[in-house]
Amino acid sequence: MKDYKKLLDNDVKCDCGRVHFVPIKDVDFTFKASNVTDIVKKYISGSELLVVIDYHTDEQINNEILKELEGKGFNLTVVRFTDKKLVPDERAVGAILMHSVRGTDGILAVGSGTINDLARFVGSRMEIPVISIATAPSMDGYAAAGSSLVVKGAKKTLKAVPVTAIYGDVDVIANAPFEMIQAGYGDIIGKKTSLADWALSRVVTGEYWCDDIVKLVEDSTDICIENSKKIAERDIESIKHLIEALVLSGIAMSMADDTRPASGSEHLISHYMVMKNIEKGEMIPSHGITVAFGTLVVSMLYEFLKENEIFKTQDDSRSVIEAVDKYVPTVEQTKEWLEIIGLPVSPEGYGVDEAYLEEMILKAGFIRDRFTIFRYLDKLGILNDAAKYVLAKMF
Ligand SMILES: [Zn+2]
Ligand SMILES: [Zn+2]
Repeated sequence: MKDYKKLLDNDVKCDCGRVHFVPIKDVDFTFKASNVTDIVKKYISGSELLVVIDYHTDEQINNEILKELEGKGFNLTVVRFTDKKLVPDERAVGAILMHSVRGTDGILAVGSGTINDLARFVGSRMEIPVISIATAPSMDGYAAAGSSLVVKGAKKTLKAVPVTAIYGDVDVIANAPFEMIQAGYGDIIGKKTSLADWALSRVVTGEYWCDDIVKLVEDSTDICIENSKKIAERDIESIKHLIEALVLSGIAMSMADDTRPASGSEHLISHYMVMKNIEKGEMIPSHGITVAFGTLVVSMLYEFLKENEIFKTQDDSRSVIEAVDKYVPTVEQTKEWLEIIGLPVSPEGYGVDEAYLEEMILKAGFIRDRFTIFRYLDKLGILNDAAKYVLAKMF
């Protein structure tokens, strides 16, 4: 995936008929704290800098970055979150705003995806550039345009702007808490079912499709899957593939101007689980880990679909199978991927019982206006049967 840089900050005329433009100016994972001044100076004019830092990053790294900037004449305002599991809600946005000074020239977000979401949102409202220093390969939001935030207790994607540039030190990223590596990997395997859903919608609803965007997501996902074992062992080169794949998913969404290329039914399951926990006042489950579970469920739904008699009598059933088969993993494959990274393969491992699983299969597909396997099963009148099939397989 060496040539993705040509997609950045460039009008790319594409065979799909659109001109793709990704507003991110640079992505580089050879970042070292000693380069931070040059990077900041390149994209932020002025010396009033707001630095937002999370709990997960090694203090030594944070301090190196801060020391370097202070030594070069920047006025730093530092917002340091100490929450183990930071909820990106009104309180967190408020905390950043309350600490910011008038005339802030730019934001440096040092941390995982949540910090990035928060900083991008605040940056877009203050109309100032945001530079992201990624420290964990935990989710695919680094290059996204929207910020995934919790508003009045519900998870929402709010319009923000993409970061100006994304940097990271692979040695630091490879040392992130293991749960964040599992989550990032979970988010990536979910791209398989996202693409299957997109392919399904292309056949059934005639939705827009771009071969180049699909290839970008597919290639970056495959290289992570090929290196799963090494990712689990924190091998530096393989972790680089993982963080790149996560950033590329965001770039793909930016190219499509829609989350479609990297978010399908597995993400709806994830959003549903997050929503339910917020409703119950419980800790929000990790995005990538719930996506991993969603991928397992969705692989079963596709398995059910392909063998279903009502489906087989549809005029377009052959074209549907041809379209989705290229992307959708088998249940066995999905389980294998989960096992390699140390994630559970049973619903209990994700805190899901029979009733809850049934509820999410019947409802998750309808929380957002997106055509996925859920809506297709519903259209054929077999969503209930599909839920029964998955329950029988899982319990
Ligand atoms: Zn295109
Ligand atoms: Zn995701």
